[in-house]
Amino acid sequence: MTHLLLHHIDTLATFDAERRRLRNAWVLIHDNRIEAVGGGADPEPTADERLDLTGRVVLPGLINTHHHQFQSLLRNIPSLQDSALFPWLRDLGRLMGALTDEDLYTASLLNHAELLLSGCTTAADHHYLKVNDIRFDTCVEAAREAGIRFHLLRGSSSMGQSQGGIPPDDQVEREDDILADCERLIRTHHDPAPGAMTRVDLAPGSPFAVTARLMQQSVELARRHGVGSHTHLAQSAEDEQYMHAKYGRSSVEMAEEWGWVGPDVWFAHATCLSDSDVARVGRTHTGIAHCPNSNMYTAAGCCRVPELLQAGATVAIGVDGSAANNASNLIDEVRNAMLLQRMCHGAHALSATQALELATLGGARLLRRDDIGVIEPGRCADLIAFDTRQLSLSGGQHDPVAGLVLCETGRVDLSIINGRIVVAGGQLVRIDLPALIDRHNRLAGALVARAEKRSGVSFTRPVWRRAYPYEPAAA
Ligand code: ZN
Repeated sequence: MTHLLLHHIDTLATFDAERRRLRNAWVLIHDNRIEAVGGGADPEPTADERLDLTGRVVLPGLINTHHHQFQSLLRNIPSLQDSALFPWLRDLGRLMGALTDEDLYTASLLNHAELLLSGCTTAADHHYLKVNDIRFDTCVEAAREAGIRFHLLRGSSSMGQSQGGIPPDDQVEREDDILADCERLIRTHHDPAPGAMTRVDLAPGSPFAVTARLMQQSVELARRHGVGSHTHLAQSAEDEQYMHAKYGRSSVEMAEEWGWVGPDVWFAHATCLSDSDVARVGRTHTGIAHCPNSNMYTAAGCCRVPELLQAGATVAIGVDGSAANNASNLIDEVRNAMLLQRMCHGAHALSATQALELATLGGARLLRRDDIGVIEPGRCADLIAFDTRQLSLSGGQHDPVAGLVLCETGRVDLSIINGRIVVAGGQLVRIDLPALIDRHNRLAGALVARAEKRSGVSFTRPVWRRAYPYEPAAA
């Protein structure tokens, strides 16, 4: 039973009910929990170990609520660079069919490395691809190796292109098999106890990847087991057109009909909500994972975050798939959430601290966890520290917490998850990063080469469109 004292903290942003910011502060960690917090004239407690955090801003670890980690092997695919969402998904499907379990493990570990270094301490991976030898358990195993707190969002596709869906026919599972495997994964990996390092939530890919029957059965199964439900919803105008053409209603109206609203449900994106959809999501306290980089890259639209928050929804942040974002940098995502919301909804739409609240308090609420997201006694010891003495923050220390979002922040200096140090001095403690990057690059090249051979399509011929004279994209 050890006590670790983080002390001489320049600024401690607790995100507690009073939103206290303490100067010259300390945090006492006992095993995996925060035991005490103080600052200013409060006497420092004794401890077995001490870590001097002079010049650092400390805040709760950030929470990522939507991701597809395998996609880091498919970053920056030249033939996908200028696609809108549905054609992008179709082309991505042709590449995904070649993925193996070794690819998935390596991509997951690589994403955890990037997430950890960008301040994430709890990651949720929406994995929906079951091809070749892929196991969903692999996502859990990679998270354990990285030492990150993890929610496996058991994704699925059951409605292939021949049934009017978007996924390729050879990438769908039988619905009974999906539901049986969801139960198996909950039994095997889901820990409902406070402080859990691994949880499982159920996450059919989207209403254009599974049937209405599976949507309904999945949320019923989730509620029987007390786990959450997640899916993509209202991702783009094409998505809404699909729902209106197929069901004659909006995505959110259909979600409500299927039982897919409530505090145990969250949607990724929700970029195309009508006024009544916003009111419905808010009234039912449903969650939204806002993924600004992905929304900008796929030109999907802009989530109405301020109105959703005002209506009563929980909004959190997600980096989304590494092919739709091309990065898995969570503090960068927080910054872009703030910038995009201001661009779409005005200068007062989202402040720097509000954006940080989405990634801490919002993420914890959305994952229905009252044990993370705040630095206060009794919570899990998930904390991050940024060194304020870096080039990009220089001159911006008048408000050191907002500066983390307004300025370019770079890597965390320190990250502690469940009381264990996972990043120290800006370096990963548990992962050999150069070796991992080598392996990841090798597997990415081999994966795309296999997909090209199988499909006869070239995905990797570099694209150079001229701005002078302006060269429009081919249709
Ligand atoms: Zn997604």
